[in-house]
Amino acid sequence: MNKESDISSLTAENERLLKTGSAKSDIVSVGTHQIRTSLSALKWIIKMFLDGDLGKLTTEQENLLRKAYESNERAIKKVSEILLINKSEDIAEKEPVFEKVDLLELIDSCIFDFSGEAHACGIEIIFLTPNEKPKPVRGDREKLRIVLENLIENAIKYNNQNGKVFISIKEIEKMIQVSIKDTGIGISTLGQSRIFEKFFRDENAEKKEAMGSGIGLFDTKKIIEEHGGKIYFESKQGNGTTFFFRLPIY
Ligand code: ADP
Repeated sequence: MNKESDISSLTAENERLLKTGSAKSDIVSVGTHQIRTSLSALKWIIKMFLDGDLGKLTTEQENLLRKAYESNERAIKKVSEILLINKSEDIAEKEPVFEKVDLLELIDSCIFDFSGEAHACGIEIIFLTPNEKPKPVRGDREKLRIVLENLIENAIKYNNQNGKVFISIKEIEKMIQVSIKDTGIGISTLGQSRIFEKFFRDENAEKKEAMGSGIGLFDTKKIIEEHGGKIYFESKQGNGTTFFFRLPIY
């Protein structure tokens, strides 16, 4: 085979893989939506029994139904998580479209989206904004939103009750650096060497929070690197974690 036919067969194979990948992701998305709809229907039926709408229950019946309700709630949460991962994996895999991105505005909007979740865990998110507005970065807004969502969500998820999340932004070595610091469980020494591997979850994280896939940081690193940026972290088990990423100025 010559070079040209090598390239065209690789291109065809690449297109085939992309199509298969996207078909799979569509199947997951449609399937999980249907499962979530069925689980939600079940939820309301169990709730009607628990609320006594269909007559008084014995203590034994009520205890069993309460367990069924809780188990169903866990399943709904897991399915919702699969839907979210599927969506963010789709975004992470697509070709980036670069434009001028105002990170300050994007961070503000992400903090707003997580305010309910943080409040429910008694966690305060503090955005330490600089006096001078930072320069815009060259980035794909949708992909950078995934990065911020992953890092902020982890800073809440792996935090302690009533913990804090500090976010800051500054210009450093001709790049814009964002840091997301939490006061949570930290990452073990073993975890620190494997944190960006796909599907890796640290033992302490699995104990604290059953929900998780180990995909978020893998995608986050991929996105930052395709932007010509860098990501790193500092952490101590039991003593919080700070993630830093830098992106080129537009
Ligand atoms: P997930 O959170 O779904 O498990 P991620 O890829 O986002 O997946 O993170 C991978 C692992 O990195 C987590 O399971 C956890 O062990 C660790 N981790 C990530 N962020 C933090 C953090 N802020 N504090 C402690 N551990 C973290």
